[in-house]
Amino acid sequence: MGTGKVDAGCIFCQIIAGQIPSTTVSDGDDYRAIRDVNPQAPTHILIVPRDHYADVCEVEDAGLLGRLFQAAASVAKSEGLDSGFRLVVNTGAQAGQTVFHLHIHLLGGRSMHWPPG
Ligand code: 5GP
Ligand code: ZN
Repeated sequence: MGTGKVDAGCIFCQIIAGQIPSTTVSDGDDYRAIRDVNPQAPTHILIVPRDHYADVCEVEDAGLLGRLFQAAASVAKSEGLDSGFRLVVNTGAQAGQTVFHLHIHLLGGRSMHWPPG
């Protein structure tokens, strides 16, 4: 069971509700995977839980976190990212989080640098 929590002012809640258009890659019971509007790699997809959580620290349901990562891995496979991909969860402004609704970035299709900037 999800929390059903929604933040009316949140851009990702509005995307989940269909109030803002987005390109859906896959839909699950408790998440939607969409293409990032400002891609940082040839493949840049966001795995977004349907319920509103500001960040990963707000999630008490370990099963949900597991399903989000499984979804990311499954989308990576369906996108053909066999050579590798990166999953990123920016948490907090200092880490570069700009949308305060939890999401996993799935990045692939190019070489990645380490450490990240
Ligand atoms: P963050 O910086 O919070 O880790 O990532 C937010 C991501 O959301 C950014 O990569 C940004 O390009 C993406 N984004 C922001 N607004 C929209 C939108 O309206 N639609 C989509 N598809 N992506 C968005
Ligand atoms: Zn939200």
